[in-house]
Amino acid sequence: MEDQSSSRRKFLTTGLLATVAAGCSTKNPFDGYAPGDIKASGEKVKLLSVDGEIIEIDKAFLKPVPNLPRLTNSEERKGVDGKKFVMVIDLSRCKNVGACKTACNHAHGLNPGQNWIKVLSMQDAEQTAPYWQPTTCMHCDEPPCVKVCPVDATFKRQDGIVLIDSDRCIGCRFCMAACPYTTRVFNWDEPVLEPAVAAQPYSCETSMPQKIGTVSKCDFCPDMARKGELPHCVSACPNGVFMFGDMNEDSVTNGAETFQFSELIKEKAGYRLMEDLGTKPRVYYLPPVNRNFPFESGLENQDPANKQTH
Ligand code: SF4
Repeated sequence: MEDQSSSRRKFLTTGLLATVAAGCSTKNPFDGYAPGDIKASGEKVKLLSVDGEIIEIDKAFLKPVPNLPRLTNSEERKGVDGKKFVMVIDLSRCKNVGACKTACNHAHGLNPGQNWIKVLSMQDAEQTAPYWQPTTCMHCDEPPCVKVCPVDATFKRQDGIVLIDSDRCIGCRFCMAACPYTTRVFNWDEPVLEPAVAAQPYSCETSMPQKIGTVSKCDFCPDMARKGELPHCVSACPNGVFMFGDMNEDSVTNGAETFQFSELIKEKAGYRLMEDLGTKPRVYYLPPVNRNFPFESGLENQDPANKQTH
């Protein structure tokens, strides 16, 4: 039998919920819906209500999230009204499974090696324990990358997400040089895309299809957030490392657990990378204390470029 956690994760990942748990929307998935018109199937599913409660409902009464109409470029550049998206990464839970990278690369049609998420092996001092540190774009509130772009191809939206418009990008790579987190990658090669994906019109909200000669990076999956769904890395991680949510609602979730963002950061001494640069990242880290997993051996053979020290 499914437990409550797995039911909640399944619900969020199948996109039947019109909200990112309790954290990112007040939209009720059952608004305007009349279950009395439809025959019950007898098959029950557990859902997360907008109040954060687990509720049970007949499957026939589910109202799938409708396909959203195509957005204009200026709507994509504006972002989602009333949101301030934020991510929390719990380093005590990361085992370098790599599911986040695989899901991200697949969802965004990235060429092999074009990882938007990097999982670095870290060690703060010789005597301290090593740990894994996944990195994404930090979606800085003061993004140096945006300031140096000569053609306004990279921009910050009102919901906090920093995006790239590949239709404008001229491939100068100033943004790559300006980013202190080395998060951006350059598409040197023609992306290997399925014909249907290659033929679709470009959207800077999905970052698809990727284009040769342009810069790309983690986009916080804004198309998913707009639908009230979690970013692909969050849903894919089996250990609940990534939590995504809305600072305005003071809530983050990994799909299985939902936390009050401010309390979580305060209680677990959350921090941001390179705070002293004044970039004001929207990604917070929880320190790798009381790790859920021992650090794996065999790291001697890893690529030295992937080994970091603070
Ligand atoms: Fe820009 Fe780098 Fe900050 Fe992302 S992490 S917003 S690419 S400076």
